[in-house]
Amino acid sequence: MPSRDIKDAHPILQEQFAKAKETFEKTYPNVTVILTATYRSPEEQNDLYAQGKTKPGKKVTNAKGGQSPHNFKPSFAIDVAFVIDTKVDWSEKWFKLFSTRMVNPKIEWGGQWKYVDYPHYVIKGWKDMIK
Ligand SMILES: [Zn+2]
Repeated sequence: MPSRDIKDAHPILQEQFAKAKETFEKTYPNVTVILTATYRSPEEQNDLYAQGKTKPGKKVTNAKGGQSPHNFKPSFAIDVAFVIDTKVDWSEKWFKLFSTRMVNPKIEWGGQWKYVDYPHYVIKGWKDMIK
């Protein structure tokens, strides 16, 4: 299981997520924003990579262990979802509404990519931040 703790994410993401979650939940009081992943170990990433390739399931990533922004501590990426009346909701609508509060000059949203990844937010230029 990947970490779902915001403390395992980079401070840039921690700060923006806290603000975005607060204002979003004020605007939509029946919706709770949750984290589905912050840090993911390279081993867990390799398992995901194998899915849809050498293991059954739907292909979900082209990143091997150590290649994803989730594989660093603190993590350079977070994945979000929404809970409405105790049920997890993956509607495009919520992802789009939430993105308007999350995206800033330092944070990019996977919903804007060619291979759409709605839950995913990543720090721009994260590869240059690896020491
Ligand atoms: Zn992600």
